[in-house]
Amino acid sequence: MKTAQSRANFKSAQSVIPGGVNSPVRAFRSVGGDPLFIKQAKGAMLEDIDSNKFVDYVLSWGPMILGHAHAEVLRAVLSAIKRGTSYGAPCVGEVELAKIIVKTVPSIEQVRLVNSGTEAVMSAIRLARAYTKRDSILKFDGCYHGHADHLLVKAGSGVATLGIPDSPGVPESFARHTLTAPYNDIKTTEKLIHKHARELGAIIVEPVAGNMGVVPPTVEFLQWLRMITDKYGILLIFDEVITGFRVHVGGAQTLYKVLPDLTCLGKIIGGGLPIGAYGGRKDIMQMIAPAGPVYQAGTLSGNPVAVAAGLETIRQLKKPGVYKELEKKSKELADGLGEAAKYAKIPFYQTRVGSMLGGFFTEGPVIDYAGAKKSNTARYAKFFHGMLNHGIYLAPSQFEAMLLSTAHTNRQIRQTIVAAQEVFPTLR
Ligand SMILES: *Cc1c(COP(=O)(O)O)cnc(C)c1O
Repeated sequence: MKTAQSRANFKSAQSVIPGGVNSPVRAFRSVGGDPLFIKQAKGAMLEDIDSNKFVDYVLSWGPMILGHAHAEVLRAVLSAIKRGTSYGAPCVGEVELAKIIVKTVPSIEQVRLVNSGTEAVMSAIRLARAYTKRDSILKFDGCYHGHADHLLVKAGSGVATLGIPDSPGVPESFARHTLTAPYNDIKTTEKLIHKHARELGAIIVEPVAGNMGVVPPTVEFLQWLRMITDKYGILLIFDEVITGFRVHVGGAQTLYKVLPDLTCLGKIIGGGLPIGAYGGRKDIMQMIAPAGPVYQAGTLSGNPVAVAAGLETIRQLKKPGVYKELEKKSKELADGLGEAAKYAKIPFYQTRVGSMLGGFFTEGPVIDYAGAKKSNTARYAKFFHGMLNHGIYLAPSQFEAMLLSTAHTNRQIRQTIVAAQEVFPTLR
């Protein structure tokens, strides 16, 4: 594979951008090698600046559920752009997008648009703290909720250990307000809640974890979270930035029939343009300025181009049969990968919720971050590069999801399975 152009650009990027990228995972650090610079993308295909072509299973980390450069979405974006790219004043598209979100996501009665998933989560936490008048939050180890200070925290070694910062620059005094528990672990979470109930304003969870690889929840875990948060007056926040409009048009909350108080959205609702949103119960949302005292604002929030892309994307997703078709293709791909691994005698523990696929190089089971970390990441790196050489673009990290779009064809899925049949035996 020729990579001279990408290599040269990466070198030059590193002189003006820290690490050469504007978001860390893109740099290929955990799989080795240099990242590819993308020239263009269409449907399920990416083309880099050396003219290599790949079937894309990253999909810009989630937004491109219809594939790249979808004709109807492009049409909506072009039409919006011609009317100006930002007004800093209300526009009709914002209300239309809010209405379709309220109608589709069952727990959302009111919604505020922001510019990224990080911003959505950060704002939802501020709101939850204001509403409950409590400062602490609880998150789950291995769940990613964007890079706001109080969420860049992971579990310490002990069960009741208070949060320690994941990054320099996050004050310990912030991290102290963030408790962490293992995903799917009711017992540990219950102990923490009992101990800290009076300080806990919110529990935030990815209802399907997608940032430690894919780790599905148990239904009991989500149901129990709803029960225990109700019991102690804690707000339950679902971070559906990745699962929203992906695992079901109504999100994971519809799939698992558990309704949170607040929901964070992003990725798909912007159709590939920068966006985020948080919404939920009206009595809580009414606390946001200017309706209420909780301040949150944004120069580009409700951007007319982003809302046009998001609206059209959701309209396309609401067509009959879309999720059934995605499920069918995703299952076929997962089955094919599983058989290829089995035939090559490579331990490969698979997880999947709809079009979110996970595969860990371990016997499993993987139900939390500790389990995910048992994966042989060196083997993943080899798998990643082997697949890349066969024209398949996977996430450059074990701890990310493999995602499908409506644009992936049966032929591309078969091509992917054939590639895996050739790559798995090289991993022994
Ligand atoms: C991607 C993601 C975020 C952060 O969204 P950004 O738009 O990258 O800020 C937050 N939560 C989850 C679950 C995500 O997958």
